[in-house]
Amino acid sequence: MMIAQLAVGDIIRQQRDFFKTGKTKDVAFRIEQLKTLKKAVGEHLAAIIEALRSDFNKPEFETFITEVGVIQEIDYAIKHINAWTKPKKAASRLLEQFTTGAQIYPEPLGVVLIIGPWNYPFGLVVSPLVGAIAAGNCAILKPSEIAPHTSHVLADIIQKHFDPAYIAVVEGGVETSQKLLAEKFDHIFFTGGTAIGKIVMEAAAKHLTPVTLELGGKSPCIVDSDINVEHTARRITWGKFINAGQTCIAPDYLLVDKTIKQDLLDNIQKCIREFYGDNPVSSPDYARIINHKHLDRLREFLKDGEIIIGGETNPDDCYIAPTVIDNVSLEESVMQNEIFGPILPVISYTDVTEAIAIINERPKPLALYLFSRNKNLQKRVLQETSSGGVCINDTVMHFTVPSLPFGGVGDSGIGNYHGKASFDTFSHYKSVLNTSLRSDPKWRYAPYKGKLQMLKRSST
Ligand code: NAD
Repeated sequence: MMIAQLAVGDIIRQQRDFFKTGKTKDVAFRIEQLKTLKKAVGEHLAAIIEALRSDFNKPEFETFITEVGVIQEIDYAIKHINAWTKPKKAASRLLEQFTTGAQIYPEPLGVVLIIGPWNYPFGLVVSPLVGAIAAGNCAILKPSEIAPHTSHVLADIIQKHFDPAYIAVVEGGVETSQKLLAEKFDHIFFTGGTAIGKIVMEAAAKHLTPVTLELGGKSPCIVDSDINVEHTARRITWGKFINAGQTCIAPDYLLVDKTIKQDLLDNIQKCIREFYGDNPVSSPDYARIINHKHLDRLREFLKDGEIIIGGETNPDDCYIAPTVIDNVSLEESVMQNEIFGPILPVISYTDVTEAIAIINERPKPLALYLFSRNKNLQKRVLQETSSGGVCINDTVMHFTVPSLPFGGVGDSGIGNYHGKASFDTFSHYKSVLNTSLRSDPKWRYAPYKGKLQMLKRSST
């Protein structure tokens, strides 16, 4: 927390000096720091869980799998870092006889900025940090002020375990973020809404700083009739209502084959009861909305369509019940904006062509879900739609696979991370051609007289 009091410019200067020492380029140093990070998360587990509970009553189980689960990213990086950091040989066919080697060297970018959102306020800052460390960078982290307890705990952990000249947390809101964005970084990794993503990209452009933008949007979920309805309902209910729906890749709305709709909705209702009891407000396993501003935003959506499950709210407690709404028109605000809360609109279709058209009329989503055993339909949806990622017959789980790069496309983001993709995001791949000085044939030097004919002959 004290780090926040240091001037941003001073921290950046200190980090630039530290980077210049070359210490972060040492792979052994990076491994040691990743281990420190893992140990720090483990040691402060109780504080992390408590902070998330204070911020929005996040259940411990959910904190464990969605925030502390970042430890798996750390383990994965430690396991693969030696392979990732090795220069890779490249083909050099044309110049074969004069070349001793063509190689691609990954090198760290320098001092990077990571700006986080409030919905997974710990995991979504620490996860990119793993990539930044593995790739050999210094980093400044700006967690979200909207989840202040988690922001403080993160600042505390980083301050206790890392030299601020290497990794620092700067806490604060929009003003702090803008102060940071006014500075020159070597990369900015931003997770948040699409509108703020544009502000970040504009600020970065002034310094020609590359950006990764992990943004949001409306992630559709198509449900075909060829499914196991019980399993489908359970997986949708889980993905939608975990974190009280405040998940960037939560299924935002359902596009359901009308022949299966009623059966699916009955099963979703059953799952909600199974997960959270008859009265979810007293369930220890159901989170709250982060603040009143978001609660009010979400309550407006409840005016659209017809509530068929849930719909209860309790403003004193920032509570909105797991809610399903039917008979929604595409023009209503719940279908025009990212929901980012526990409200699930349902739209039915007669032919999947209608569902695909609805998806393609909108900005490209971060995730697309399809429930169907029909392989031809799976292929068709993959071919005819574009999205950051796709998860077939499940929700959210693709996020947890480190070998799958995670990111958006179009309005849902630029770039990606997780596993090797995180290392790549925070690395520059330097192309190196190493030639021999042994011989020096003169074919490319002036005077060119007589050489062009030879060149034309050899290249045609
Ligand atoms: P947000 O864009 O409001 O805020 C994100 C960060 O930007 C915060 O740290 C905040 O302090 C900072 N910020 C806010 N306004 C700013 C401004 N004017 N100038 C500079 N910085 C500013 O996002 P949020 O409300 O924290 O998160 C919700 C959004 O994030 C949703 O749209 C969600 O889909 C998206 N999200 C995406 C992912 C992903 O992985 N793609 C993950 C989580 C959340």
